[in-house]
Amino acid sequence: MQPATSVFVGFLLSSSARPFVYAGGELVCDGVSLQKLAKKFGTPLYVYSAAQMVERAGMFAREFADVQHTVCYAVKANSALGVLKLLAAQGCGFDIVSGGELERVIRAAGDKRAEVCGRVVFSGVGKQPAEIDLALREGILLFNVESEGELELVAERAAKLKIKARIALRVNPDVFAETHPYISTGLREHKFGIDIRLARKVYKRAAQLKWLEPAGVSVHIGSQIRSVEPFAAALSRVVALIKQLRADGHDIRYADAGGGLGIDYGAGNFEPAKQVAKYAKALKGALGTMDLHLLLEPGRFIVAQAGALVSQVLFVKKNGTKTFVIADAAMNDLIRPALYQAHHEIVPLKQTSRKLRKVDVVGPVCESGDFFARDREMAPLKRGDGIALLDAGAYGLSLSSNYNTRVRPAEVLIERGKARLIRRRETVEDLFGPEMI
Ligand SMILES: *Cc1c(COP(=O)(O)O)cnc(C)c1O
Repeated sequence: MQPATSVFVGFLLSSSARPFVYAGGELVCDGVSLQKLAKKFGTPLYVYSAAQMVERAGMFAREFADVQHTVCYAVKANSALGVLKLLAAQGCGFDIVSGGELERVIRAAGDKRAEVCGRVVFSGVGKQPAEIDLALREGILLFNVESEGELELVAERAAKLKIKARIALRVNPDVFAETHPYISTGLREHKFGIDIRLARKVYKRAAQLKWLEPAGVSVHIGSQIRSVEPFAAALSRVVALIKQLRADGHDIRYADAGGGLGIDYGAGNFEPAKQVAKYAKALKGALGTMDLHLLLEPGRFIVAQAGALVSQVLFVKKNGTKTFVIADAAMNDLIRPALYQAHHEIVPLKQTSRKLRKVDVVGPVCESGDFFARDREMAPLKRGDGIALLDAGAYGLSLSSNYNTRVRPAEVLIERGKARLIRRRETVEDLFGPEMI
């Protein structure tokens, strides 16, 4: 069941979880009017609060301050160079899942390239030789190896380049975590990781390969997980394995707990600092007294609530008993509702106390799956009104496409009360770039 939209939008003012609040009847982000941004940069438009991203990254740093750790922000959640640069400056490392993402990290790191790449972990089930070579040359911290085939390939590339590869096996802990099936990854039936029961054998093989250095064990059980117990259960299994591996003679120093900590997309009161404190307590409990360097790979938790997708109402139309609000943003800009039946709060840019009515909020794309909300209670909207889809900072633009030959939105980062364009809106010419006739 999806939570109903709150009857009035005052929750935005009382919740500490979102930087989007009403001031003088207007929706603002860190003091900047979204209506003004919409006017200046056009819509659809992604708007992010740098302050909130920094604050969220800081929550992890604070709660894990008493254990050796590195926060490796998961690039795929929001891979804008401006966001990566911001987080690199906070001392974050990065969790990448492709060579392309590593290129992004390199670009964002600037003259801190070596230092930042030294905090990169490389996950993903289908790494290719060129991607592995790039990661080796950049001296990344750790390859999270997801199969025996990949282990052999990393060993082969490392031998070829004569660069030692630090590796962790991503083990599949067979832990169930309550989330959408598409973003659950920690069960044996999923494509991810290596069965934890077979791990010792694979580490034995890794130790025989001259250019591999087994240095860690990693796990990632899925995304948008709201309770902390599954994280603790998975890390406990990792820690038990590390004890065995050390007894087997492997010098395992890193425990990578993955990402996946969820946020509240609803209208309830959510306290992110408390959630990170709970998460840290659970993970530290699982670590016990083990002398390990903990790696964390949060993505969504750091960036989701810092972002909103600002859109404009194109038309309001009635079909039978239904009212459709047609926005200029669509599933190609933000696919989460279509892909995962995900809920996003939708609020008007101008505060109103008008009576709520049930509407569907949809985009212009030619798919019935192109909706943002169904049967949602909203204050009446008309052509030209601005709306914001909240909690769109993660898996928004990074999951977008050009379907229907729609150009992708611009992105604006608000820093110290100033809005900076970090990605201009695409043009159709941009889309034609790679094509030939
Ligand atoms: C996607 C992913 C993450 C980040 O997940 P979030 O839910 O955004 O925190 C971390 N690690 C790996 C291996 C991933 O695939």
